[in-house]
Amino acid sequence: MPKDFLKGANDEYDVIVIGSGLAGMTSANILGRAGYSVLLLEQHYKLGGMATWFKRPGGHIFDVSLHGFPYGMIKSCRRYWSPEIAAAIVPLKNIRFDNPMFSLTTTYNRDDFTRLLTDRFDVAPATVKAFFDTARGMNFYDDQAMTTGQLFEQFFPGRQDVVRLLMEPIVYANGSTLEDPAITYGIVFSNFMSKGVYTFEGGTDRLIQMMEAELLANQVDVRIKCDVEKINLRQGRVASVTVNGRTIKARSVISNANLRATIFRLLGEEQLDRQFVDQAREVRLNNSSTQVYMALKPGETVDESTGDLLFSSTAREFRTDLLLNRDVTSRTYSFYYPRTRPDGRERTLLVSSTNAHFQDWSDLSDEEYQASKADLIETTLDAVETYVPNIRRRLAHVEASTPRTFRHYTQHVAGASFGTKFEGLAISRGLPEQVKGLYHAGSVGIIMSGWLGAINYGVIVANDVDSMLMAAATSAPASS
Ligand SMILES: Cc1cc2nc3c(=O)[nH]c(=O)nc-3n(C[C@H](O)[C@H](O)[C@H](O)COP(=O)(O)OP(=O)(O)OC[C@H]3O[C@@H](n4cnc5c(N)ncnc54)[C@H](O)[C@@H]3O)c2cc1C
Repeated sequence: MPKDFLKGANDEYDVIVIGSGLAGMTSANILGRAGYSVLLLEQHYKLGGMATWFKRPGGHIFDVSLHGFPYGMIKSCRRYWSPEIAAAIVPLKNIRFDNPMFSLTTTYNRDDFTRLLTDRFDVAPATVKAFFDTARGMNFYDDQAMTTGQLFEQFFPGRQDVVRLLMEPIVYANGSTLEDPAITYGIVFSNFMSKGVYTFEGGTDRLIQMMEAELLANQVDVRIKCDVEKINLRQGRVASVTVNGRTIKARSVISNANLRATIFRLLGEEQLDRQFVDQAREVRLNNSSTQVYMALKPGETVDESTGDLLFSSTAREFRTDLLLNRDVTSRTYSFYYPRTRPDGRERTLLVSSTNAHFQDWSDLSDEEYQASKADLIETTLDAVETYVPNIRRRLAHVEASTPRTFRHYTQHVAGASFGTKFEGLAISRGLPEQVKGLYHAGSVGIIMSGWLGAINYGVIVANDVDSMLMAAATSAPASS
């Protein structure tokens, strides 16, 4: 008989969270800690969603999305997770850029960028200050008509090199382009500039283990291999979910699944206003990614001056569409030195990431797909050679992932790595007005994606759910 992954689960909860990405887990943790009964349902056999890792024989552990996040993670993790989780967040030392326009190493914060922009790129100090202040002052309620491209043109007209320095890491960090609203750039860039780029010591596996322990300590009922098929309503209100052949009731449901999957697959458009459905249909997905994972043989090392994060490109000019092109010219390398996992085996690993279009991979036959993956690996190894000489001889293991891989493991529509474009935020926030008790928490709107964005969005939505449940409790007639 197949294993019952819902064995012992209740028939009813205050809150059901669909998906254990960072946003879903954070909402579940906050609501569990507040005393609500919470069921967390994850379709995969592992928690974490895109915040994931995998192991290969020989003691190699690859991180998929642990490349860097802003300092704000410390505060969010301390408040909404635990002091131990916050204490493991440490700065990355060397952020490197290497492209035909410039090669440099930076600590990637405001002081160092001010130095670089004035001394090396010869921009007037007053312009640099005004740019930082403008980016820092942006918030969600600002006029969203200005694009990131226009913002750059205002401060650095005609300076492709400056735009490249300022934009390349953000394109990688959240898939945004020069055509997206400037606010999506300003908020994310300023978050990083406040204190540089941070990582989690011990790796993603340690973080997710610590989060799972915290969820269990807060009495959250955590279930893996539970693929939610349907969110069910009664009289326009969320009532239950259908999962693994059971119907489990809930006073509220938070979906951490992809926004479009939540609306069109789990809920069904017939439940919603036509206008809302039309707007939801217009929401653009963010791009997906390809990655090549490389483990060096035991004993093989790379000098740490090579960088922790290395933005490398052979493209002569900077265009955001080139960063997505199937003909890869830009790669972001993350180096994982043995200090990444101080308690693990001494290993040096390298992950090359490139933003990618789902369509470039989705329609390939199996044979073409395997050939494309092999080509991705070979061309990446050629490119890495510049930074890690004789890489092929020193390799213990190499493999690749594609947009198809990301879709397979997370069910994200089109394998989107960073949720949706900006317009997704209003739809995600508007869902509870359409269906009482139904919320969405997960990568949307660029601002709410990435590790920090997803966690912070999980906090916002947990607060909304808490307010709704409290209001419902006070307005309910007292039982006699
Ligand atoms: C290659 C790559 C590199 C990245 N690099 C970085 C980085 O360096 N820094 C950074 O900050 N961010 C990075 N990100 C982005 C970051 O990982 C994500 O934005 C974040 O983890 C998303 O969290 P989320 O809460 O939106 O949920 P997701 O991680 O998208 O998780 C959603 C979860 O819902 C589950 N689910 C879906 N449907 C169902 C269903 N029907 N039933 C049950 N469960 C379901 C999925 O299995 C998944 O576990 C990267 C992402 C990728 C792909």
